[in-house]
Amino acid sequence: MAIGVKVMERPEQGVSYVRATLKGMALTFKHLLQPRVTMEYPEVRSDDEWRIATRWRGTHRMLTDEQGRSKCVACGLCPQICPANCIKLVPGEDERGNRYPLIYEIDEFRCVFCGYCQEVCPEEAIHVGVHYENAEYSRDRFVYDHERLAAQSHPVSTLWDPTDPRGE
Ligand code: SF4
Ligand code: SF4
Repeated sequence: MAIGVKVMERPEQGVSYVRATLKGMALTFKHLLQPRVTMEYPEVRSDDEWRIATRWRGTHRMLTDEQGRSKCVACGLCPQICPANCIKLVPGEDERGNRYPLIYEIDEFRCVFCGYCQEVCPEEAIHVGVHYENAEYSRDRFVYDHERLAAQSHPVSTLWDPTDPRGE
């Protein structure tokens, strides 16, 4: 496609900017009368009109059973599928042959929040969560170990449902 060049001529006489200024002010005042579309974060985090989507994919959570044990059975599927290679799993086995994660870590800094780990988990143990306030001052603080993942209490994300693609 050819690129056109539009040459703007400089005005040769004195130009008044009063009209342009009044137009700009009229636009500003028009917006003053319209309903507000912003909120004063972080003082206000959600209200009746604005709520974070239930399918938001943020900080992970590891779910536990009634006894407080990890639901993870160290099957290895989530580190296998993770496109960012940010899950570290070292499996262990108890005396009855049950597998559990000796080490389970997720580097939230490298994570791309695709949600594959949640989708693939056969035990519904690991979840991405409806949470985004996970800023840190140092890189190593982004690595969540199992204890920290299990201590998260925010809601978990709902998965994409092909029968309801827009989440309505
Ligand atoms: S959300 Fe995606 S990138 Fe992040 S840990 Fe899970 S699989 Fe890996
Ligand atoms: S997919 Fe689920 S059960 Fe398997 S290692 Fe990951 S968190 Fe554990």
